[in-house]
Amino acid sequence: MTISQSMLTPEEITGLPFVFLLFTVATVGAIIGSFLNVVIHRLPREESVVFPHSRCPSCEAAIHPYDNVPVLSWLVLRGRCRACRAPISPRYPAVEALTALLFALTFCLRSGLTLALPFDLIFVASVLALIFIDAEHMILPDVITLPGFVFALVARALVPNLYGVGFLADGYLAGWPVWAVSLAGAALGALVGGGFLWLVGWLWERVRGVEAMGLGDVKMMLMVGAFLGWPLTVLTIFLGVLTGSVAGIVIMFRRGRDMQMLLPFGIFLGIGAIFSMLFGQPLVEWYAGQFR
Ligand SMILES: [Zn+2]
Repeated sequence: MTISQSMLTPEEITGLPFVFLLFTVATVGAIIGSFLNVVIHRLPREESVVFPHSRCPSCEAAIHPYDNVPVLSWLVLRGRCRACRAPISPRYPAVEALTALLFALTFCLRSGLTLALPFDLIFVASVLALIFIDAEHMILPDVITLPGFVFALVARALVPNLYGVGFLADGYLAGWPVWAVSLAGAALGALVGGGFLWLVGWLWERVRGVEAMGLGDVKMMLMVGAFLGWPLTVLTIFLGVLTGSVAGIVIMFRRGRDMQMLLPFGIFLGIGAIFSMLFGQPLVEWYAGQFR
């Protein structure tokens, strides 16, 4: 991907109208969202995500392909199984619609029609799976976070457009090939993300004598840090702590529980990561500009 190519709009590259491209990316998002529903339901139960095909959890009836169209089938069936009329959780169309929306936003705001697009979409899908699995099962499976970390490193070597590595390229690593600088930036991001969460957990254990969070959060932030680079990782942690605290306070007021209650922090780190990926760069630049 040369610079002159990346300055062309998606319409100029393909000759297709922008709305068509946007609709295509959103449709792919809805289909991936449908697959994420299977992953969210089966992966923590250690079931295969490929076989058997989808069945109604109540009556075990196989779901026909025409009843498995993302979002639309749920609306047509008014949220009930065709065979037994048992209600189907609105989480299914919600995940499909959310994935479609986030894929469309990633295409519009971040990647455009570049080599970065498939990598960014895989990152969004992985983080979405982690958010919903953590919400339902309070775990962040290694099967996602560890390959996700390797994926992030590979992505950074292949698509060296990592934000926040300018000081490396101009400084210590001057003269290194672009992919190597990007990979070093990814390693730094992973160190900042994973390292910070590990440190907080270690301190919490020292002070309170109880385990604050599983290493799942640490592994998740290795992946996020390597993919986003250190500035957007710092923003991710900030947003995760902020949204997590607000949610914690709201729940405490409504249910009157004590501080020992465990919140699945992966949800908030995930929200922070996707927000940072989409909107973080101008935000970080504006913040840095306040000190110039
Ligand atoms: Zn049924």
